[in-house]
Amino acid sequence: MSTRRQASIAAPLIARPRRQLELAAAELSGRMRGRVLLREPMARHTTFRIGGPADVFVQPLDIDDLTVAIRFGREKGLPMKVVGNGSNLLVGDKGMRGLVVRLAPNFSDIEWREDGAVVGAGARLGRLVQEAAEVGLSGLESTVGIPGTLGGALATNAGTDTGAIGDLIVGATVFDGNGEIQQWTAVQFAYRYRYSSVSSTRTTVVSAQLRLRPAPPEEIRAKIERLRRKRASRQPLRAWSAGSVFKNPRGVAAGKVLDRAGAKGLRVSDAQVSRKHANFLVNRGQATAGDMRELIARAHSLALRRYGIDLEPEIEITGE
Ligand SMILES: Cc1cc2nc3c(=O)[nH]c(=O)nc-3n(C[C@H](O)[C@H](O)[C@H](O)COP(=O)(O)OP(=O)(O)OC[C@H]3O[C@@H](n4cnc5c(N)ncnc54)[C@H](O)[C@@H]3O)c2cc1C
Repeated sequence: MSTRRQASIAAPLIARPRRQLELAAAELSGRMRGRVLLREPMARHTTFRIGGPADVFVQPLDIDDLTVAIRFGREKGLPMKVVGNGSNLLVGDKGMRGLVVRLAPNFSDIEWREDGAVVGAGARLGRLVQEAAEVGLSGLESTVGIPGTLGGALATNAGTDTGAIGDLIVGATVFDGNGEIQQWTAVQFAYRYRYSSVSSTRTTVVSAQLRLRPAPPEEIRAKIERLRRKRASRQPLRAWSAGSVFKNPRGVAAGKVLDRAGAKGLRVSDAQVSRKHANFLVNRGQATAGDMRELIARAHSLALRRYGIDLEPEIEITGE
């Protein structure tokens, strides 16, 4: 068979899904008020600056818009993934199929109360902790320097050795896996170390109520400053990364294990194990998801061979 004939048969097979996507994006765009983008590079929406295109990238303006997007995805049988600031994601080089829904910078209202706040899932933790200090509410300081949204933090139970976001939650407004709006209690999140039930139940968090305790603003600000300085002295915060790549095994820091195993500086193309913190893998500019995955595999294998420790990823590897 000639190459020309092969191409004429193959072309409609390749072109059809693309055309279908264009039609789906146009239809969704006509139904909602927020942004709908076709084949949007995920590298623009992850702190690794890595990731191929999302088929249809959606930024709903409000809960009505989000309802439209969720129902549309279900109606068309499209897979859907909600993302926050992309600070815990390694997205594949071929990108993400179906709908990718980003709530930030919308969904970021904060309603302060005497003993806490009701916060939109798209609100950035940095702003939340800063404003909490101003209104004299303590509890969020453990999240200082985590560059995520509240939604992403609730999904990953983000935190540090001084506490995690799951300790503060009272309840939340969510869309469950069937696209129905529900009120969740804290128990339904089933929080453990860097784990919640959010991803496995395909739940989308819209907003949450947090319990905080009154404290003098200057005391909170001093704690924030102390924790910020500690983080800056230990972590490569200016580099493109997704924070700690591996969870801490019981009783020991993954960074320490990797450091002792000689992982610092290890490199695959532009993906490198930070020389400042061995659990931070950084993109020096042109690293692909493939490079990063290869580096993760090498670091994992070093810890296993040297100490018999089977490190478990903390970041989420998603897409194709
Ligand atoms: C420099 C640096 C330092 C970091 N330090 C820490 C740290 O100290 N502790 C820590 O725990 N993490 C840390 N991280 C990782 C990351 O910032 C956190 O996991 C953060 O909470 C992720 O939030 P995000 O909005 O970026 O979520 P994303 O990375 O966009 O998504 C993470 C997960 O949450 C889900 N998700 C996002 N929004 C929603 C929503 N509204 N509803 C349902 N699911 C949702 C996504 O589907 C995905 O499964 C660090 C990252 C960086 C780059």
